[in-house]
Amino acid sequence: MTLVLQNTLTRKKQEFEPIDPKNIGIYVCGPTVYDYAHIGNARPVVAFDMLYRLLRHSYGAEHVKLVANITDIDDKIMKRAAEENKDISEVADYFSQSYSEDMAALLALPPDATPKATETLPEMFAMMETLIEKGHAYEAEGHVLFHVPSMKNYGRLSGNSSDEILAGARIEVAPYKKDPADFVLWKPSSDDQPGWDGPYGRGRPGWHLECSCMIAKHLGKTIDIHAGGLDLVFPHHENEIAQSECAHGVPFARYWIHNGMLQMTGEKMSKSEGNIETVRDLLKSFPGEALRLTLLSAHYRQPLDFNRALVAEQKRRLDRWYRLTAEVEAAEVPETLITALEDDLNTPKALAALEALAKPETAAELKAGANFMGLLTASAAGWFQSAGSDEIFADEVEKLIAERIEARKSGDFSKADDIRDNLTSQGIILEDSATGTGWRRAD
Ligand SMILES: [Zn+2]
Repeated sequence: MTLVLQNTLTRKKQEFEPIDPKNIGIYVCGPTVYDYAHIGNARPVVAFDMLYRLLRHSYGAEHVKLVANITDIDDKIMKRAAEENKDISEVADYFSQSYSEDMAALLALPPDATPKATETLPEMFAMMETLIEKGHAYEAEGHVLFHVPSMKNYGRLSGNSSDEILAGARIEVAPYKKDPADFVLWKPSSDDQPGWDGPYGRGRPGWHLECSCMIAKHLGKTIDIHAGGLDLVFPHHENEIAQSECAHGVPFARYWIHNGMLQMTGEKMSKSEGNIETVRDLLKSFPGEALRLTLLSAHYRQPLDFNRALVAEQKRRLDRWYRLTAEVEAAEVPETLITALEDDLNTPKALAALEALAKPETAAELKAGANFMGLLTASAAGWFQSAGSDEIFADEVEKLIAERIEARKSGDFSKADDIRDNLTSQGIILEDSATGTGWRRAD
């Protein structure tokens, strides 16, 4: 086993060496639950689910712990709750439930722990107290702030120096801050806002603090792998490092891995752009497995241009694979697949390895490899019964028949024969006649 990961912290591909192979911890930053998950939110879940599966395979399922949090205190949740005249817990509970359902539909294994910010308040109070005692944080006008200049090596994950941070537009300048780069650990709530009573007055925690405390509580002070979206490197992950390392005095996470962003026609998918596709809506048109395969079809660090045609294409690929493997028992997981995944989770290479096995002689290996990736887990009968499958499959057959006619016209008979053989292997019989080519399913 030589798993290699691109570590954002060292900017190098590094061999993964766990602190304790019997006790491996991964943390993935989870959603803020104020709306349905969009397909961009699903990308880290599916990408790092692949890592989780690979580590479980290599070290034993009982030795790997995946923690993914739910941020259930946030101004966006407060805004939505106010708009709908609901309690924030009602909004958060509803969307955290829908989130778990959607991720399960994408065949992501459930994490070993899914802590919520509201369940971690005592740990947050304790961490703030430690940071204040050690001179890394201070109270000001009902706030608790982390004092960035108190940490000598702040900024090493993102490579942002303090000067650059100060120049950044995202820094909120406030009169109570000692330094403009200081960030909020706790902020006061007004009477009409949700708040929690604590040693620093009634208020609510900053987002960065939540993750640091949930990690310490569920995985310990130093963890093996911290994962999340590339957009979280700064300030979120940088600030997690600052809090945890200044509070505990030990390194926080050994491997930082980040997924690239999902784009819609070249633009970042975001609510403000109005180009959101929710997982829930996509699931009305496609099986979750086709969405999963689409997300795995690009390398996790690369941007992925997402569109429905891409999902339809991957759906047809699954139709073909289900047809091929309908009658076979899974064999051993092919080494070519494991080798590809161990190379910084190279899923395009892994899928190419599976495609090379997509023929009748090696269908058992295809099935085993696909199962390993969380694919082909339904029964073929169940798959083809689901709505839309047959229709899309018929489209694919028609497309191939047209290609075969073209090939014959241009004298490329070997290509024409290949297309026929390919269809035969999927249980489709072509019938040529004077009026054209028809098809039927083999009995
Ligand atoms: Zn986080």
